[in-house]
Amino acid sequence: MQKKHNTHTIQTRLEGSRGQANAYKFYIITYCLMGGIVIQYLKETKKRTKKTSQCDRVKVKGMPELPEVETVVRDLIPLLSLKTVIKVEVPGKKLRRPWDPVWSQLLVNQTIEKVTRRGKWIIISFRSNVQLLIHLGMTGQLCVFNQSTPLQSHTNLVFSLDCKAKELRFRDIRRFGSADVFLSQEALKEFFDSRELGPEPFNIPEDYWVNTLAKSSRNLKAFLLDQKNITGVGNIYADESLYKSGLNPSRKAMSLSKKEALLLAKCIGEVLGSAIENRGSTIKDYVGGSGLMGGYQDEFQAYGRTGEPCKKCGQPIKKIVLAGRSTHFCPICQPKKPRTR
Ligand SMILES: [Zn+2]
Repeated sequence: MQKKHNTHTIQTRLEGSRGQANAYKFYIITYCLMGGIVIQYLKETKKRTKKTSQCDRVKVKGMPELPEVETVVRDLIPLLSLKTVIKVEVPGKKLRRPWDPVWSQLLVNQTIEKVTRRGKWIIISFRSNVQLLIHLGMTGQLCVFNQSTPLQSHTNLVFSLDCKAKELRFRDIRRFGSADVFLSQEALKEFFDSRELGPEPFNIPEDYWVNTLAKSSRNLKAFLLDQKNITGVGNIYADESLYKSGLNPSRKAMSLSKKEALLLAKCIGEVLGSAIENRGSTIKDYVGGSGLMGGYQDEFQAYGRTGEPCKKCGQPIKKIVLAGRSTHFCPICQPKKPRTR
């Protein structure tokens, strides 16, 4: 229809002034149409660019901590157990510590025996005794997808499985995460020993905890963030645990009574346990191993609530910087000076 109209207007232009006027109309209409298309194209491009650049400069506030990593592990156990890796691909940008092609050879045709966690590391153990160790860093995602699901940008590793055309994909926008292969459980144990990781937070040995706190002159926030004292507690759950135990984050670790020390251990376990029940906290990029987000961010009592009323006393939550990290607490419920014992 449009073509017929175009041919007609070109012919009339050649025939006389009336035709010329029609030709101008044609040019104006074409110009407007083309202009519209160009504007639309520019709008779409701008949208796409905006989306990409937001991803690229993601402002990381909450990186995956123990509850998030535990949720990924729990999601992955039924999806990966007894599945065999049939192919390994490295489709996107390289990780900061590049994937060694030899590792692919070690994993292909090998069956996954179990998925576990130590601190914030995810351990995928193979029957051959080879261990795949993943750390989510700041923005890592480790999820199982159908092969037909389009690959998301920033996907670093794809492990094809022998089951129902599924793939385990590791994606890390900021690339602070890591993926390494260890030849045996013993080699992996040596790696963890070299890191001097403290105990897991759910069964902290009582004597160890009281003595380690008593020997430390650091403030409680710095003490909790040090993975050598206790593993898996990061910024969010340190703030939440201290709030729950009524302890001021600036207090020196050694100033705690035995009763306070044990209360802190109990609160750490309860806060982390409750966060795991809620599938962890999603603040920016975190999703579990099945791709679902966490829900504990709605339960925060102190973290990220600067200026909002304390849920116990109504006073505004304060934010200070301790150990180089933003720290949230209630100045009334968490007094700097210990309460009378
Ligand atoms: Zn309060």
